[in-house]
Amino acid sequence: MEKGLLLRDFKPRSELVVERQSVKKPKFTVIDAHTHYGPLTNGDDFAERYDTKAEIERLQSLGIAKVVQHDLVWGEALERVLAKIEPYQDVIVTYGSLDVSKFEDPSFDSYVYKTLRDSTNMGIKGLKMWKNISLGMKDSSGKHIPIDDPRLSPIWQGAAEFGLPILIHVADPIAFFRPIDQYNERYENLQRFPEWSFHEQGFFTFEELMEQQENLIAQNPKTTFIVAHGGSYSENLGKVSQWLRRYPNMFVDMAARLAEFGRQPYTARKFFIEHQDRILFGTDFGPGDDQHYLYFEFLETWNEYFDYSEAEVPGQGRWKIYGIGLEDEVLEKVYFKNAQRVMSL
Ligand SMILES: [Zn+2]
Repeated sequence: MEKGLLLRDFKPRSELVVERQSVKKPKFTVIDAHTHYGPLTNGDDFAERYDTKAEIERLQSLGIAKVVQHDLVWGEALERVLAKIEPYQDVIVTYGSLDVSKFEDPSFDSYVYKTLRDSTNMGIKGLKMWKNISLGMKDSSGKHIPIDDPRLSPIWQGAAEFGLPILIHVADPIAFFRPIDQYNERYENLQRFPEWSFHEQGFFTFEELMEQQENLIAQNPKTTFIVAHGGSYSENLGKVSQWLRRYPNMFVDMAARLAEFGRQPYTARKFFIEHQDRILFGTDFGPGDDQHYLYFEFLETWNEYFDYSEAEVPGQGRWKIYGIGLEDEVLEKVYFKNAQRVMSL
């Protein structure tokens, strides 16, 4: 018998025997509304990382008809992304962004307008705003920038004017804001990536970020916000539900939060049914990723106690997930109809 086993060596294999319906392909066509095919996650040599035509064929074999790729690109960098996906811009749909660090320039307003106009002419379908704003940038007085800072408002107004939805990533899992100790449910996750911790480093607290996020959405009713990663707070779908009821301009995607949705199947099922017009399928995947079937399994089946990832010790936490058996009309909306409508695809 092994005594004093270390947590990192503990890899229990479940002995539970239950039926498992396999879902190799989704029941309907799928638009993956949250993916990465540009430099942000693939590096500056992203163009060498994949062959566009082969990648699209691979995605189609997995049941993914289109992907929406988000990157912090504008100008020449946007041109490079568009050149890479040419002539498949209707299959790999691209968002753009802008240089938010210019927000204190007196001419920020006109910079935003010009960038949005140029990028729209180049074919972007939305704007990506990332956590580097709320969890990174500082203004000239050395203070972090709340996402509802009035100095950023040209962005939200401009997006509304150009009809561009904004995919916004404001915070990370709430556990990343807690001490990294024996009580932290993402302890192993944070051991692996200590730089993902936002505890005690002068950052906004999670609660402050959620207040700022709500203000932002409330103050810009004409702007469509797709709040990434389950509305930033998939650990508390009751809260996300309140926001969705209150703000018709808010949408959410489910990217990289399969573990969260799947560990609360009763609550998640109610959430998906109540907000079936406001949830977009998304994964956060990129070139070569192929675990979409786990998302399909969660949405379509009543399967019990399965892994949300193929990793030996699943990265986000030591728990399993359960399917929520969504009905066809809800599935169709989440899989593609909502994305089509929100992004006018
Ligand atoms: Zn992402």
